[in-house]
Amino acid sequence: MQYYCESLTGYKRLPTLEVKVGDLTIGNGAPIRIQTMTTTDTMDTAATVAQAIRCIEAGSELVRITAPSKREAENLAVIKRELRARGYQTPLVADIHFTPNAAEIAARIVEKVRVNPGNYVDKKKFEFKNYTDQAYQEEIARIRERFTPLVRICKQYGTAMRIGTNHGSLSDRIMSRYGDTPMGMVESAMEFLRIARDEHYHQIILSMKASNPHVMVQAYRRLISSMEEEFGEIYPLHLGVTEAGDGEDGRIKSAIGIGTLLEDGIGDTIRVSLTEEPEYELPVCQDLVSRYLRGASGTRIPPVTKVSYDPFGFERRKTTAVGRVGGAQVPVVIADYSDERPTPENLSSIGYRHSPNERFGKWHLSDAAADFIYTGARYVDFKLPGTLGVICDAQSYEKAPDKDQYFPLFIAETWLDKAYPSSATLNFVSLDAGTIAPEVWQRFRESLDETVVVCLYSTIPHAMASVRARINELMGEKISNPVILCVETSLGSIDEQLIHFSAECGAPLLEGMGDGVWIKNHPELTRNMQVSGRTYMEVRDNRQFLNNTAFSILQATRTRISKTEYISCPSCGRTLFDLQETTAKIRAVTHHLKGVKIAIMGCIVNGPGEMADADFGYVGSGPGKITLYKGKDIVKRNVPAETAVDELIDLLKEHGAWIDEAASTPAD
Ligand code: SF4
Repeated sequence: MQYYCESLTGYKRLPTLEVKVGDLTIGNGAPIRIQTMTTTDTMDTAATVAQAIRCIEAGSELVRITAPSKREAENLAVIKRELRARGYQTPLVADIHFTPNAAEIAARIVEKVRVNPGNYVDKKKFEFKNYTDQAYQEEIARIRERFTPLVRICKQYGTAMRIGTNHGSLSDRIMSRYGDTPMGMVESAMEFLRIARDEHYHQIILSMKASNPHVMVQAYRRLISSMEEEFGEIYPLHLGVTEAGDGEDGRIKSAIGIGTLLEDGIGDTIRVSLTEEPEYELPVCQDLVSRYLRGASGTRIPPVTKVSYDPFGFERRKTTAVGRVGGAQVPVVIADYSDERPTPENLSSIGYRHSPNERFGKWHLSDAAADFIYTGARYVDFKLPGTLGVICDAQSYEKAPDKDQYFPLFIAETWLDKAYPSSATLNFVSLDAGTIAPEVWQRFRESLDETVVVCLYSTIPHAMASVRARINELMGEKISNPVILCVETSLGSIDEQLIHFSAECGAPLLEGMGDGVWIKNHPELTRNMQVSGRTYMEVRDNRQFLNNTAFSILQATRTRISKTEYISCPSCGRTLFDLQETTAKIRAVTHHLKGVKIAIMGCIVNGPGEMADADFGYVGSGPGKITLYKGKDIVKRNVPAETAVDELIDLLKEHGAWIDEAASTPAD
């Protein structure tokens, strides 16, 4: 297999070159740095300085500021002077798109410049042509001519640079040759990197951001592999998921993408892009990074000698369906009712609403309705919806009232000992991937028959790697029993829990592993999320929180779509409307459009390019003006902001993407 990380089982940082950003070291084993970007108008010095200070005090080790033109680039000197005068030495980064002249000014002022290779030289026209090799080389020569002056300035001033590729803004030239692919993203950065290396300039950090975590993870892995193969050395990596959105979804999507890479020791600095105030991003970064402060571990996981899946592509592991689990079916969600008797009322937390007044009492289920409940030793004393299975402890299965709806849960040892009666159709068997003894694991694999669904959890620190390694072994031995990913946490804050569940379940799901998700926490420990003294996210119903989180993880990994997907930019100094408020407004009226992808982007300069694979786009095109897109095509230009949401709804209707908000789908 191509190289992309040091170990798949023992946590170890990927060795990278060392880059200095001011006094801050990035790469070569330095702590993983966290950062964010201001959202103010760069010409508003007071607001930008105040926001930068809030970010620094929240922990930001670098602060990025947009410089869309020469004016803003020049104003960076004023902002920097003001920050230094107030005692803040944090390195500043200028964010550049399209404007080499602004970059060349900024590189003389701030500690780092970020360029986007998709638009530094090229203007995007969404044109596709067939380039001959000669025509392609002529384009590279043009890039060299435009980019080399910036490299030389950076070298002269000791300024660092990020070559920051975005999936949504690849140049027409790259798109024409490589398409909209992770390899296109890699090549886009490598073209610029080769030019910088020819100038003997190495103060470079790279990023491969995408709003789709599959694309993002594959692009970083391919980039590492390409650098290793071509140069024999790897530049530090800045990790991020673009346009992740806000709230729980934004945190989950970011943690899946960034966390999957961090799990394998990849990443030297991270930014979590949320459509929220930038200082809110820092606690999420801290929670993500703190998971990896434990150092090397995982000595108990046997080394992976053969990788049976493709880390550079996505193919779902082929499993044999056992009842409603596995095969071609979407991954299932299991809700835990072992600590509370299920009732018609409390099933509403997991997507089932009971209408007792309708004839015979009717169940309605939402798109995010769980598939099984685990009840421990209990039985349910009312008629359940037919779509909901019950998992009970193997000891209690024999006396279960309905063998078509109840299924036993064994632990590996009781399954092997045949200690209790089993189901003829579906048996869940749980085991600890991190600590199971080799001889028990061997016997367990030999015992698997066509009725078993394996529930894998792990109690060791490098838990995800142990689960992945066990599934890899099953794949290597062509064992096709479905696997449920089981994750439990005793972390207290909502942020920490979201990040933990997302990284632990999301990473295997991105490798195509997992036929279901079963997550559990300790509600007595759960703390509502507080940012700057205010409650930002609140858990009133813990079971609903877990159910929503499970479905959101499946949605973000695109393995089970149950709701509308929002791709919203984090906003910056170019933003032309209140992005947070507008996102909330659009979400309120479109949240029920399952599977529809809506982009909400702050500016027309980058927005259309960055919308990636959105079905519809709502893009700021001037003060108080919105331009609406169907895919990449403009359909309504400069609509007044006051009526733009209604116009968006009309557009959804015209294209058959709208449905009226029905209460739910009847269940039985
Ligand atoms: S799309 Fe959003 S974050 Fe990106 S440049 Fe425009 S306003 Fe800024």
